[in-house]
Amino acid sequence: MHTNCPKKGWKTLTIDKLAASGHGSTANTCAVIRVHYSTIDGTAAAYESYKYWENWAEYIGVQDPLGLAKLIKRGVMVMKSTANDQLRKIKRMMAELGIAYEDLTFEAVKEKCGMLDDTSYHPPRRPDDPEFGTPNERPLQGAIYYEEGGYISDPVLSVHNVQVAAESHGAQFKFNAASWILSKMEPGYPG
Ligand SMILES: Cc1cc2nc3c(=O)[nH]c(=O)nc-3n(C[C@H](O)[C@H](O)[C@H](O)COP(=O)(O)OP(=O)(O)OC[C@H]3O[C@@H](n4cnc5c(N)ncnc54)[C@H](O)[C@@H]3O)c2cc1C
Repeated sequence: MHTNCPKKGWKTLTIDKLAASGHGSTANTCAVIRVHYSTIDGTAAAYESYKYWENWAEYIGVQDPLGLAKLIKRGVMVMKSTANDQLRKIKRMMAELGIAYEDLTFEAVKEKCGMLDDTSYHPPRRPDDPEFGTPNERPLQGAIYYEEGGYISDPVLSVHNVQVAAESHGAQFKFNAASWILSKMEPGYPG
């Protein structure tokens, strides 16, 4: 939104209480770029967004003096389990949206990643639970794997990229804005 609204000629001002863009929960993200989600809308939005990550430099369209974040396209493997209904819904939605994936037995999982084993410990338990670390009797049956996913090199930098792109279209940003907001709300408050 920060980039697309200014691109359309809208005059935008982003007011943030923190010191810089991307310093909210984005700074704590694990940076995983995945396209499987629990709803069809979420999956479609994630897949559309993935395409922007693939062409990030083109999407941003300007030079950021700090450099550009990079997509590391490693692919994503998601284990099937009884808790996620062997990924039936996820597979159905990916198929509906034309997102390519491989449906793997556990033997095929081991071919891709030999260090994995099929022992299942569901449900999660706290370390003080006497059953902690005890496997259940339902070994994992397999996984799905898709290529269009991975992780990005630096989530905070990616947001800075978006800020620089938006600024190039006239967007304005105001950080550390808590006192500024209060000064607008309460006459006499130091801005
Ligand atoms: C531990 C963890 C791991 C995650 N891992 C992943 C992952 O691997 N892949 C993934 O896609 N997603 C992941 N996520 C989710 C992802 O981080 C969030 O969906 C994303 O950061 C949300 O971005 P945002 O811009 O909406 O929010 P934020 O980055 O939190 O930005 C919100 C901004 O609003 C500002 N703000 C809030 N209140 C006010 C106010 N009253 N006045 C002024 N400014 C205000 C904040 O200062 C902040 O800058 C993870 C999240 C967490 C916590």
